[in-house]
Amino acid sequence: MRALTWHGTGDVRVDTVSDPEIINSRDAIIKITSTAICGSDLHLYDGVIPGVKPGDVLGHEFMGEVVETGLGSNLKKGQRVVVPFTISCGGCFHCKQQQYSACDNSNPVEKQDMSATLYGQPMSALFGYSHLTGGYSGGQAEYVRVPFSDVGPIVIPDHLDDDQVLFLSDILPTGWMGAENADIQPDDTVAVWGCGPVGLFAIQSAIVMGASKVIAIDHYPNRLALAKQLGAQTIDFRETDVREALMEMSGGIGVDAVIDAVGMESHGFAIDNMIDVVKQKVGMGFDRASALKQAILAVRFGGKVSIPGVYGGMSDKWPLGAMMEKGLQIRGGQTHVQKYTEDLLAKIEDGTLDTTFLISHRLPLEQAAEGYKNFKEQQNEWTKVILKPGMEN
Ligand SMILES: [Zn+2]
Ligand SMILES: [Zn+2]
Repeated sequence: MRALTWHGTGDVRVDTVSDPEIINSRDAIIKITSTAICGSDLHLYDGVIPGVKPGDVLGHEFMGEVVETGLGSNLKKGQRVVVPFTISCGGCFHCKQQQYSACDNSNPVEKQDMSATLYGQPMSALFGYSHLTGGYSGGQAEYVRVPFSDVGPIVIPDHLDDDQVLFLSDILPTGWMGAENADIQPDDTVAVWGCGPVGLFAIQSAIVMGASKVIAIDHYPNRLALAKQLGAQTIDFRETDVREALMEMSGGIGVDAVIDAVGMESHGFAIDNMIDVVKQKVGMGFDRASALKQAILAVRFGGKVSIPGVYGGMSDKWPLGAMMEKGLQIRGGQTHVQKYTEDLLAKIEDGTLDTTFLISHRLPLEQAAEGYKNFKEQQNEWTKVILKPGMEN
């Protein structure tokens, strides 16, 4: 089959690789109809994530048609499914509490050492995202093997098209959980840093959850325009003093909740490259957490801090005093996708949520490398790229 493979920093190619096969009884094979490039794929593209090997198939946002099932799968051939980016067994301690992104069983033991050292316990597995998180082949391909296919995939009714539901795989539930983690109350004023896909979905979710005012912070005009279109007020941080503006917009006490949808960006897991590197270079990363630090200072006393943006390693100059003195609630985490898909699918069906507004480009899978390059270099115009195997050039 054809698949987008990683060959080194800034070097991804569509190659012919071997077809996936059923390995375990709960597996299913999906023929991909749509797959997206995620902001976090750019961390792989930039070569800052350790544990990626030449030839690895990338992609963790995908959907398609069931073409083969193991005996333990409850899927049926011909069904259309969206697959969560988190691989979860459904039966372990964490999965039973719907903490699917903390699954104890999906990341093989031999791949657990580095994350266990960094975080105290190992990470669970993700599709197409380095051997740190299991080394599973991703879905920017014609076909993909889906482990635990009786737990993750959600079946899509025929009247919804791919564009409407594809983002149930990651960014929609990630934005939703980002807003949920901000514990939004009616009349809350919420500020969101970053108007990438996750930030935009967090803004939309916060509005659906009843926030009276949502303030979007970015500097790309087109991304700010999308936030405005959703009903947010906007701040261009290159033109405006964010802290002053937020104080003014919140009646002088600070905003009730803040959402950091920026994360480490190009930094990603860079300082995690090796534990030794972390030890040597602790402190290197502190500037990269500047959005989060600004958020912690902007939120009011007793306010809420949500972190859907990805951080991997360590950071210094951390405003611990503000965190304690202000009595803040801070929540983060990889998304427990399976917990949200059913409810969010219903909200797409009844029109509460629109997922299509941020799609800027649709390309054949064969042009995936061009998609990566432009998504990285032209962030203002290339807001979200969908790849379609078999699409005409
Ligand atoms: Zn993603
Ligand atoms: Zn589990």
